[in-house]
Amino acid sequence: MRGAKGGVARMKSAAAVIASFQREHVIPHCPRCSHPCCALTDVVLDLSFAEVRGLYQITSSKKVFERALPSSIRAQGGRYYAHGAPCPAFDTAAQSCRVYGTATKPRGCSDFPVYEDGDAVTVDLRCEAARAHLPALRAQLVAAVGVLDERRDDDFPDTFVTFTRARGGRPSAVPSAASAQPSSPSAHAPRRR
Ligand code: SF4
Ligand code: SF4
Repeated sequence: MRGAKGGVARMKSAAAVIASFQREHVIPHCPRCSHPCCALTDVVLDLSFAEVRGLYQITSSKKVFERALPSSIRAQGGRYYAHGAPCPAFDTAAQSCRVYGTATKPRGCSDFPVYEDGDAVTVDLRCEAARAHLPALRAQLVAAVGVLDERRDDDFPDTFVTFTRARGGRPSAVPSAASAQPSSPSAHAPRRR
């Protein structure tokens, strides 16, 4: 029980740090970002059919839609992966999201560029705000949850870094890269206000 309570407390602390990092460092940077994630040049939007239908304003059935997929959308295993053309909700002039604050905004967009998975917090360094302010995030996580293990992804060391709470006040084993992080550098969706 103690472990379970501790886990919840840690999750809340890490979640609070992530929320404040988004608020203070990521969101203010989005309108002036030189490489906006919503252009979908690097990252991939991973969508359910409900999400793709809302975002791309599809009125046909799933079957009909899949027969004539736009070249920027790939269907696989019941998911839809958008890449290579700007998200239709991206206002390129204002560099903002037209569906922000609505049910149409895919859930995955809100997780970028920092994700929490159990005791692990993964940062996607394709976000230039995340890259610039990584030391601040690290410091805030240390202050909130204690000593951290820090690990770069084995396959994509320049893309993903994962922080895991070290047990007993010193670095300890962390989840494997495979379990804590996405399997490809384009597996996550962007986040933009
Ligand atoms: S936040 Fe998501 S929905 Fe909004 S413009 Fe970016 S990719 Fe599109
Ligand atoms: S979330 Fe990061 S990569 Fe995306 S627009 Fe904002 S600062 Fe740029």
